[in-house]
Amino acid sequence: MSQEGIIEEIVVDQETLTVTDREGNVYETGKETEVSIYDIPNLNLEGVTVDIRPAGIDWGGILIRFLPLLLIGGLLIFFFSQARGAQSQAMNFGRSKARKFSAVKPSVTFSNVAGADEAKEDMQEIVEFLSTREKFHVLGAKVPKGVLLLGPPGTGKTLLAKAIAGEAKVPFFSISGSEFVEMFVGVGASRVRDLFEQAKLDAPSLIFIDEIDAIGRQRGAGVGGGHDEREQTLNQILVEMDGFDTSTNVIIIAATNRPDILDSALLRPGRFDRRIILDMPDINGRKEIFKIHASDKPLAKDVDIEAVAKQTTGFSGADLANLVNEAAILAARRDKKEISMAEVEESVDRVLAGPEKKSRRISTREKEIIAYHEAGHALVARMLPNSDPVHKISVVARGMSLGHTRQLPTEDRYIETASQYRDRLATLMGGRLAEEIIFNELSTGASNDIKVATNLANKMVTQYGMSAKLGPRTFGERQDMIFLGREVTENRDYGNRIANAIDDEVNAIIGEAYETARRILIANHKRLMHISNLLMTREGLEGDELDRAFNEPLNGKK
Ligand code: ADP
Ligand code: MG
Ligand code: ZN
Repeated sequence: MSQEGIIEEIVVDQETLTVTDREGNVYETGKETEVSIYDIPNLNLEGVTVDIRPAGIDWGGILIRFLPLLLIGGLLIFFFSQARGAQSQAMNFGRSKARKFSAVKPSVTFSNVAGADEAKEDMQEIVEFLSTREKFHVLGAKVPKGVLLLGPPGTGKTLLAKAIAGEAKVPFFSISGSEFVEMFVGVGASRVRDLFEQAKLDAPSLIFIDEIDAIGRQRGAGVGGGHDEREQTLNQILVEMDGFDTSTNVIIIAATNRPDILDSALLRPGRFDRRIILDMPDINGRKEIFKIHASDKPLAKDVDIEAVAKQTTGFSGADLANLVNEAAILAARRDKKEISMAEVEESVDRVLAGPEKKSRRISTREKEIIAYHEAGHALVARMLPNSDPVHKISVVARGMSLGHTRQLPTEDRYIETASQYRDRLATLMGGRLAEEIIFNELSTGASNDIKVATNLANKMVTQYGMSAKLGPRTFGERQDMIFLGREVTENRDYGNRIANAIDDEVNAIIGEAYETARRILIANHKRLMHISNLLMTREGLEGDELDRAFNEPLNGKK
């Protein structure tokens, strides 16, 4: 485009601009610059010929116009490349995540596992199966394919499996059930395939699947969707196990603390038909476990392991390991060279009820209420023939509870009687009643006692058949629904009439316990005051002091 005339300013956004003046001098400006005509020397604006060539591509304009599109496109590309990355990751997921333990330098052996002698023997047998399979084969004996390790949490299932890895001189593959169930559908099953493939190649070998309940739950029992993946994984395990022939020298060990929710197909003969049960340790087991965990720590001479074992009924192996560690931490914090009984005892309480809350301020009034409350528990327990001896009373807050009264059974118990339960209920009521008698006022401090008591009374009626009125039968089928966040659901298998009767019985049992406690506390009013007063000053009573508190004569009658 050519143009003649007077120009004041030309904004250049073209490729080039050429200006020719009258003398025929040609001025050219660079592209994409803003140029004022006045910048051109000797420019006579009359009769200037401006030659503007057709506009080039306006990159800036295009950029602005298409920016949104570009952004979207860029994002798409970004996502696409991410997805591709994930895909290749998914390929890796398919490969088994199982860790292979070499049997050369075992970190854990059977000697690290205490108290579980029977389980250890059973495990030893499995090791033998692997190494001398022929011997059994010749006699026509079927060697188990799968072994299920059962037991409550912290009883050493994982530990025992690790020990086997150390003891058996064969390759050991370990994977946890939850590792199977990850993100991508279809991967669990392929992982199983891969794992078994590897194990068979390296036979004789062991496969350990920890926490198998994560995949081995009853099929079709899930609430809502999303359990397909698990089912596929489980099915694949079953397929693989069925695929073993007599010459396949691979044994699978699985561990769970929820055998009740395992799919029955897993438990069928020819699969996990061997069970090894790990129980909570008894008093000797606890002694041994304590010794093992204390073996690498300096213990003072005053640590009485027998006494520790006595005080830790209901502790699992993991609790005991934790106890020893807590004691060591306490000793270190106190700049001690050795762990003494004081630290061990304090740690028992810590493990039982969480760390001592030093920072919490309790008013004198509160402390008084707590003192009477705990004294009430202790006194009722002391006076009843079938309750466990009181070991310690304290008004120091620990964990959730404000004060605590600790009773210890004289021996480990496997069955409990209705009389023991009744005395326990009365003891539970003792706290609340002491408050009521002394202050004529109810507090929230007893809420946990009441909850525990209600639960217990309810169990007596509906599960243990301890109610004379309702007779020896159970009511309601209880089920732990793991999918509903471990909530306990109850299937009512009785009508309203029975429901009312159950309520009445629970009320009657608790009412009776309440009366028992009231009788005792009223008859021992002075003693109650005495113990509470002692508690106010000492904060805690145990041992001889506690005995004296119960027995020393009071200047008065009772
Ligand atoms: P589980 O798998 O049964 O839940 P773990 O095997 O993980 O329990 O046990 C946790 C910890 O508790 C172990 O690492 C060990 O320190 C300790 N422990 C448990 N049982 C025993 C035991 N019988 N002997 C020694 N230590 C034990
Ligand atoms: Mg475990
Ligand atoms: Zn209480």
